[in-house]
Amino acid sequence: MIVAALLLADGPALAGGATAEGAARSAEILHHELSVELAPEQHRLRATDRMTVTVPAGAQPSLSWSLNPALRVTAVMHEGRPLRWDVQPPAGSGQAGRDWLRQVTVPLAAPVAEQRELKLEVRYEGLLDDPPRESRQLRFVTPSETEGHIGGEGVYLSGETHWYPDIEGSLPTFAVRVTLPEGWSAVTHGLQVARRVQNGHVAEEWDVAAKTEALSLVANRFVQAHREWKAPDGRTVDVATYLFPEEAQLAEEYLDATVRYLDAYSCLLGPYPFPKFAVVENFFASGLGMPSFTLLGSGVVKRHYVQPYALGHEIVHSWIGNWVLNRREQGNWVEGLTTYLANYYYDELTGKPDQARDQRRLMLLSYAVYVRPGEDYPVAAFRQKTDQKDNAIGYQKTAMIFHQLRRELGETVFWPAIRRLVAGYGGTYAGWADLEQVFAAASGKDLRWFFAQWVERPGAPLVTIAAARTDRSSAADPESGLRLAVRIVQRGEPYRLHLRLVADLAGGRTHETRLEVSAAEQILSLSVPGAPTRLRLDPDFDTFRRLPREQLPPMLNLYVTDRNRTLVLPAAEPATETAPYRELGRQVAAREPAMTQITDRDPAPAEGSLLILGGPALNEGAALMRQACGERVRLERDRFTLDGAAYEGPEMALLLSCRRPGHPGSVMVLLYGLSPQAAAKVARLLFFYGWQSYVVFRDGTVVTRGDFSSAQDELEVSVEMP
Ligand SMILES: [Zn+2]
Repeated sequence: MIVAALLLADGPALAGGATAEGAARSAEILHHELSVELAPEQHRLRATDRMTVTVPAGAQPSLSWSLNPALRVTAVMHEGRPLRWDVQPPAGSGQAGRDWLRQVTVPLAAPVAEQRELKLEVRYEGLLDDPPRESRQLRFVTPSETEGHIGGEGVYLSGETHWYPDIEGSLPTFAVRVTLPEGWSAVTHGLQVARRVQNGHVAEEWDVAAKTEALSLVANRFVQAHREWKAPDGRTVDVATYLFPEEAQLAEEYLDATVRYLDAYSCLLGPYPFPKFAVVENFFASGLGMPSFTLLGSGVVKRHYVQPYALGHEIVHSWIGNWVLNRREQGNWVEGLTTYLANYYYDELTGKPDQARDQRRLMLLSYAVYVRPGEDYPVAAFRQKTDQKDNAIGYQKTAMIFHQLRRELGETVFWPAIRRLVAGYGGTYAGWADLEQVFAAASGKDLRWFFAQWVERPGAPLVTIAAARTDRSSAADPESGLRLAVRIVQRGEPYRLHLRLVADLAGGRTHETRLEVSAAEQILSLSVPGAPTRLRLDPDFDTFRRLPREQLPPMLNLYVTDRNRTLVLPAAEPATETAPYRELGRQVAAREPAMTQITDRDPAPAEGSLLILGGPALNEGAALMRQACGERVRLERDRFTLDGAAYEGPEMALLLSCRRPGHPGSVMVLLYGLSPQAAAKVARLLFFYGWQSYVVFRDGTVVTRGDFSSAQDELEVSVEMP
């Protein structure tokens, strides 16, 4: 009876309401000595956890921790004596939060209740059999869904599994002993300190010295490769791969790339915080960054996942996200900063300014395509991505916020501030407010306006040059005698922005100015050393802003994000010719029930975007492309011509997007293979080619790609002369 009352009192605090600060006032686990036996074929886990817990003075005379309901507690001991425990069944629907978890509660009677630091031993066991389900999204790679699984194909235990006793808000260290059948090996956080094979079993010991929010452990029949990496501070770090035998020959490539990123980012971000970094192959599709290892699905490993946006991103998480932890109540800044540092900044760091510019443009495009005005939310409300809109806000927009902060503060303030963030918040939580404080302290500036504008407010600035003219006045440039007056207009509530204005001058010179705008309408007057013929505002996409949908180059992604979409399939036989298009049509239709499907015999709908599958010999809809694309494109029965270059042969295919005449926000897209095989090869990965106006393929491989320029760009204007 007493326990039940205590449970109710404890319940709300533990069942998801606890914040990091709130939990710090309740009991906290400092250390786990976790001994785990895994029997993969039986899906079985048997464990003993000796945990060290601090209990603050005046706390409830009971202690509760969470555990996966599939795991049954068999004993709780204190100093060799058994304690009584109670189990509270899962409270909720199993949907969000921790309410599907079981709470195990031990009443603490005197003299145990007087101790402020307790060592408790918990024994538990059970079956974890939740085979990963394939994610159904074709266009967007998300990890397969599982709460954790023990099986013959592999073991995956993550924070979401709740496979060991946990009190929310704890940041414990671990000593892990794991026993597995011979031929298996495990990977967890930290460093392996011992390994023995005995009587058909393997026993490994791992030391996890870094404070850990959620311990992950994976196991499989890996082929291991190790290399010693000397960190700039002189420490030795174990760089390793744990791959399946089929991929084992890729070890060198992954070790080389890992060392390359560790070198680059330890210079940029400060000492690497962990004793190892391992690339670990997973038995289901994933791309996850855990403290000191990354877990990659086989499909990904095979495709040489060593790029900055791939392996580089996971390695940057070693500092950002896995060492400095995200304070979730304030949103998620971790993905945006990691995206900025890895996916974007590696290009700058390695001297590739053109690629860096392309990345910035793509970040703006991604936001323009996937986030409609009015369906936006502030960056502060981003938690994790479940779709492309979240990706555009939480990853791309947030990355651009860091880019602007860097430009606002300068290199000599921004980078030391990032290092100060890592050094000051390593092993603990940081939220947006902490970041603001770190950057404000480093710069000596009040940055409230910056964080309020970019993090707390939804949307993006929409800036245009409304007019520009030159005149001669007394304050003009002494060389040219000219002044330039530019009228800059922002739609909606204005932002405070710095914008680069580039003026092309007569005679081939250019002149650059940094403008500061903060009003809905502003006339800026500048002296120019020559007569400007054309102005370009933010030509290198350094400022986060909304590119109006009507001004984007036509592309498949505009079809994908049009509210009104129609798929046009060929009505004609023979089946051998139309098969790849019909198959693609089935896949697209299964994923997008809102889309209309017609054949080329039906009249095309008056509104919206069209996706036409099949060339002129097969699909009469292809004829519609002629008016949409104009002279630049010619489609014939056995060849196509793009800007004068002709492509023929059965291995060629074309993905082509043009604006739909009379519908500025809509597009017409055509997939045309010169043979069914050529079309089939492209169809499988069609949606990965969504960002360009045309992509030409030979045998499924890109030969050439490019954009048809948008109708007009309001950021480029010609200048009126007096
Ligand atoms: Zn990430």
